[in-house]
Amino acid sequence: MTTTHGFGTARLRSGRELEDLDGRHLIHPHQSGAQSDRFVMVSGEGSLVRDANGVEYLDASGGGNWLAQVGHGRPELAAALTEQAGRLAYFSCFFNFSNDKAVLLAERLAGLAPAGLDRVFFTCGGSEGVESAIKLARLYHHHRGEPDRTWIISRDLAYHGATYGSGTATGFPLMHRGIGPSLPHVARVSPPYPYRAAQMYGDADPTGFLLRELEETIQRIGPGRVAAMIGEPVMGGGGVLVPPPDYWPRVRDLLTSHGILLIADEVVTAFGRTGAWFDSPGRGMDPDIIVTAKGLTSGYAPLGAVLMRADIAAAVAGDGAYFFHGHTYSGHPLSCAAALANLDVLEGEDLVERARTIGGWLREDLASADGLERVGDVRIEGATAGVELVADRATRTPVMAGAVTAALRDRHQVIVRDYGPTIVLSPPLVIGREQVRRTVRALLDVVSRLDENGA
Ligand code: PLP
Repeated sequence: MTTTHGFGTARLRSGRELEDLDGRHLIHPHQSGAQSDRFVMVSGEGSLVRDANGVEYLDASGGGNWLAQVGHGRPELAAALTEQAGRLAYFSCFFNFSNDKAVLLAERLAGLAPAGLDRVFFTCGGSEGVESAIKLARLYHHHRGEPDRTWIISRDLAYHGATYGSGTATGFPLMHRGIGPSLPHVARVSPPYPYRAAQMYGDADPTGFLLRELEETIQRIGPGRVAAMIGEPVMGGGGVLVPPPDYWPRVRDLLTSHGILLIADEVVTAFGRTGAWFDSPGRGMDPDIIVTAKGLTSGYAPLGAVLMRADIAAAVAGDGAYFFHGHTYSGHPLSCAAALANLDVLEGEDLVERARTIGGWLREDLASADGLERVGDVRIEGATAGVELVADRATRTPVMAGAVTAALRDRHQVIVRDYGPTIVLSPPLVIGREQVRRTVRALLDVVSRLDENGA
């Protein structure tokens, strides 16, 4: 198939040419070696995307990155971006400057957020949001006269971003390989992983084990030296790890008893992914700071938002305080305009509720995964699902899921993501009933042919 691409005076390029150029010039985030195959996407509509060769894929991954809530190719979003670009594409939000879209979006987020978290700091994405939250937590304690509270506690298998601070909080060893010293004063504890509880925590009650470990970690560091704990309400990159219901309430109580802040990383979960505007309240997390990104604009423009209580904001925005922190594009008018239009669509089409409906479809269709020897565990939270693969169900030996992702893409034109042994579905919230059925049917077809090595 020969499809050509290019705009204005640019020479038209075939799909093959674009792939060759990609290989020659473009370094990809999370690139793995020389990467022999590449997929250059050029257009999308709803839950479908097309590559430069004209091949159409069903996007069950949310733009490859847990977002695209309102679907691809929305004219409302395109119009909002065009209108804003023609009016004011950029002016700084530094010092006492601002713009109308940033103000309106901050107000809108304050109205949606859990009660009390009505102060907003904008970033360009999740990593910068986590970075900002870490600084805010330390500054908060500094401002209150406890400057020794510098430690941050995160968890193994957490994904918090790729900058130095957020990357240090991230609990995957590969993130730390070969880049020299990481951010100091970051400690990690075990994640809640009910499917692997016996393996990880022995006979102990999982939450009891995790609470004891957290308490011991706090005591080892010194309770007066810990600024905050950061955690995803449901761990996304860890493989859709859903904590036991008593986990967050008990963690929250323990942290409160030591004066430690709790940062909810809702970069994946907020704006409908798990069937709520914010996931943390429903889990009894009661965070002091919430970091969001992804679904805030559905990916139509880069944006993150850090929400916090007024007393935390006072540490950087109160009388006599100074926040020597921010980014050229913090509160970017285009991104904020995209977010406002995105929230209009999420509200207008009831997509947060729809995420729960999608969850029901996933549950229905994935029920037959139970009969497959390679499927160890299925975890569904709203419009996201993790299907964990094992060599056999008795030993629960993990099987890496990369081959499944490749087969789904190449054989069935369905795009999903794999995280270690877990296949993750995180489709646009506009995905149709038939499209969910097609995704799951393709997934089960591929998984049913897997051998115990994942080939
Ligand atoms: N936090 C979580 C939970 C994430 O899943 C991600 C990205 O996937 C990030 C933070 C980092 O966000 P970004 O890639 O926008 O910097």
